[in-house]
Amino acid sequence: MAVVDPLIELRDVNKYYGQLHVLRDINLSVGRGEVVVVIGPSGSGKSTLCRTVNRLETIESGTITIDGEPLPAEGKGLARLRSEVGMVFQSFNLFAHRTVLDNISLAPLKVRGRRREEAESRSRELLDRVGLASQADKYPAQLSGGQQQRVAIARALAMDPKVMLFDEPTSALDPEMINEVLEVMQQLARDGMTMVVVTHEMGFARSAANRVVFMSDGRIVEDRTPEDFFTHPESDRAKDFLSKIL
Ligand code: ADP
Ligand code: MG
Repeated sequence: MAVVDPLIELRDVNKYYGQLHVLRDINLSVGRGEVVVVIGPSGSGKSTLCRTVNRLETIESGTITIDGEPLPAEGKGLARLRSEVGMVFQSFNLFAHRTVLDNISLAPLKVRGRRREEAESRSRELLDRVGLASQADKYPAQLSGGQQQRVAIARALAMDPKVMLFDEPTSALDPEMINEVLEVMQQLARDGMTMVVVTHEMGFARSAANRVVFMSDGRIVEDRTPEDFFTHPESDRAKDFLSKIL
């Protein structure tokens, strides 16, 4: 879909794992402030797409541009652009032996060189934003899965990213904890954060997404508004996928 002010642009991106052609001619633009939800069957390349956007994976051909700057293959430029992309995964990967506050302030202290006082006060603000102001001094194991995932979101936000990527952020959570994480993400979307969200939560896709991107076998098969996608899916693959999950 055409986008007025793209923050992320992928042009003709192809990626292989050995013989497996895992991303095929991917063209995707994400506008500033837009929320793009990526859905599709398991193995269709959704995680690889996320990991490609900040070059956790190399690509064989094509270009990736973040806020007008081409993403380099390596070096300082890559580290800087990568730090502008926040990522939240299915598994929270918090540092087990650090407090919640330390988990959030560590990267701003070490990578951004912020002063401790400044980094910690900003971390407390972020904890408040994800509804965990009172948990700053706890250790990850003392929190529920939903709380840990909210800490992981705060940790990603602490680097002041231009865009947030979420790869199935609620898939590892018990059902009663899914909503508290989705609500934080909804609020982030309302605050204007640019977001790419891989999720099976169709309620979130319907209510928060500006666009739904449907992937199948490494290709983007549909890229439409949620209303269009859910009411008139065009491809047989999307129809089949929706018939199984709705
Ligand atoms: P999704 O997130 O949509 O389930 P993935 O991006 O994880 O899909 O995987 C896409 C395809 O790439 C799958 O066939 C998967 O088995 C394969 N794949 C993923 N990661 C690797 C890897 N590190 N090495 C080889 N194959 C991989
Ligand atoms: Mg995946």
